[in-house]
Amino acid sequence: TKGESLLSVRDLSIRFGGIVALDRVGFSVAEGSIAGLIGPNGAGKTTLFNCLSRLYRPSEGAILFEGRPILDAPRHRIAALGIGRTFQNLALFRSMSVLDNVRVGGHCRMGAGFLAHALALPAVRREEAALLEQAHRLIDLLDLGAVAGVPVAALPFGTQKRVELARALITQPKLLLLDEPAGGLNHEEVDQLRSRIRDIRDRLGVTVLLVEHHMNLVMTVSDQVVALDFGRVIADGTPAEVQGDDAVIRAYLGAP
Ligand code: ATP
Repeated sequence: TKGESLLSVRDLSIRFGGIVALDRVGFSVAEGSIAGLIGPNGAGKTTLFNCLSRLYRPSEGAILFEGRPILDAPRHRIAALGIGRTFQNLALFRSMSVLDNVRVGGHCRMGAGFLAHALALPAVRREEAALLEQAHRLIDLLDLGAVAGVPVAALPFGTQKRVELARALITQPKLLLLDEPAGGLNHEEVDQLRSRIRDIRDRLGVTVLLVEHHMNLVMTVSDQVVALDFGRVIADGTPAEVQGDDAVIRAYLGAP
């Protein structure tokens, strides 16, 4: 239900050699909210995302999703549990069409066995039809209808970023992790992205956690902002609270 924690990160720590990339990080994201994760370069934002999507194994702490610990879940189960993500460097098949990229995202959810049996069984055929319908819905939501048949490589970067969003959404995540969605976008595209992120939450009911350097986007789209610096949470609150926080201002200005 809306308002309860969908995601809870507790005392999460990870080291790379001598570097403590995350140092007892803790915060929660309420179901149905949009949360922003900010911090200067090297603060640990991407490392945290990689822990959430189980690419990295933290040395200490817990991650609870819908109240259940997920650190012991195998990596390939993460999408099925309901966590989707986009990547800073887009994870698309560049020679394939927009529609096929989005559909392939759905096959990942069903697992490798699905591909082997593709179209062989009536149940699979029904699932494939549902997937195609869902792909078209997302393509419409993200204004990609006119380019559905175009190979991704032929599209402008801003359009490719929308394909990446559709690809992540077809797994029907409850939580969507967006890694620098505004990176490389122009001013107008960032404005559109803001309303798309809201649409994703409002129309699809997806909770969103975004890592972003674009302060104006984070502060205007988020209900909650968590600030990291040197692997620690230095502020966690409303955009207004975090924007005015002394530790956050110091972290960005680099002053002592
Ligand atoms: P940016 O905003 O520049 O993307 P960030 O907040 O995402 O930065 P991270 O990329 O998470 O920061 O890096 C946090 C720290 O962990 C850095 O000191 C980085 O060098 C280190 N780090 C991250 N991944 C690895 C790795 N695989 N091996 C060694 N060190 C790593």
